[in-house]
Amino acid sequence: MDMYLYPWQHDLWMNIVRRHRKSGLPHALLVSGPAGIGKHNLSLNIARWLLCQSPAKNDHNEDACGQCHSCQLWAAGSHPDFMLCQPEEGSRQIRIDNVRKVNSMIFQTPQISQCQVVIIKPIDVMNTNAANALLKTLEEPPGESFLLLETERFGSVLPTIRSRCQRISLSIPAYEESLAWFIGTGVAEQDARRALQRNGNAPARAQQWLSSGIGEVQEQWVAQLMGWTKRQAQLGKVADAWLKLEFSDVITWFYNVSCDMMKMASSGDAGCAAEHLTFAEPVTEISGYVAVDKTKLITFQQKLQRILGQILSGAAHHNKSLTIEVLLLEWQELAIVRSGVSS
Ligand SMILES: [Zn+2]
Repeated sequence: MDMYLYPWQHDLWMNIVRRHRKSGLPHALLVSGPAGIGKHNLSLNIARWLLCQSPAKNDHNEDACGQCHSCQLWAAGSHPDFMLCQPEEGSRQIRIDNVRKVNSMIFQTPQISQCQVVIIKPIDVMNTNAANALLKTLEEPPGESFLLLETERFGSVLPTIRSRCQRISLSIPAYEESLAWFIGTGVAEQDARRALQRNGNAPARAQQWLSSGIGEVQEQWVAQLMGWTKRQAQLGKVADAWLKLEFSDVITWFYNVSCDMMKMASSGDAGCAAEHLTFAEPVTEISGYVAVDKTKLITFQQKLQRILGQILSGAAHHNKSLTIEVLLLEWQELAIVRSGVSS
């Protein structure tokens, strides 16, 4: 049977199990927390277990059995009482049509299992029409059905949705636990530590960052940003190179770099301890030859945050290369090469 749960989720999982044994789980759960810590894995585990016809139980654990008809259909990816609702390919929003499919499934009786389960992710990218179509279902879920909603941006979930759900809030696991898990997957300790550092200590995200090669590309971005800051690189070339990955990753990266620069600039002569920085080595290097205008940097950070919010909510369509070029030009305005640094 596929394992979904990460080691740091065991206690949380047992709380969920005990609660269900005692009084039954609420029918609408909102699973929230930062990216890359296993929210979706938790939802999947809850779904498979709720659907399972004879969960395996002992005093210390309970989970889906992996063998019943329901578990077999689950493993085959064709369980008729389960639905995963997420933005369609090429879209970032959940639309009313997607919600209508959820509603029409959930108002039927279960075919195999004793209940139906729908996972909706991410719930914060739902427009008002779609949300309205979901509200009645959330309010009075028919029969034995469960809705598991996921979000990285709890504050962006519509209040009408939030108020109809019970929240399960996940946070970044303890560093040593993440590190031990990461090394246990066969990653060298040094790589694991660096990946965790670059990804806000979110272990699943760090793993993906390392295995997908995003990490290597980002190290190149740093070199390109340095070249650009020193006026040695061409605007178009830097922008093109950055656009080879997801736009939201580029903006997130630039935002993290600018936060590090702010910490460096604010910590004075003593410098900022590496563990407080996402990109400690490269940012320390950049700070060695540029001074930042803090006021402009704050405005710049706010702009990056705004753009990221727009991307994640699916609310705006940016001209990506133009946006990056403008950001790079603004960066040159705020990062002033220290005198005495040769170009
Ligand atoms: Zn089963």
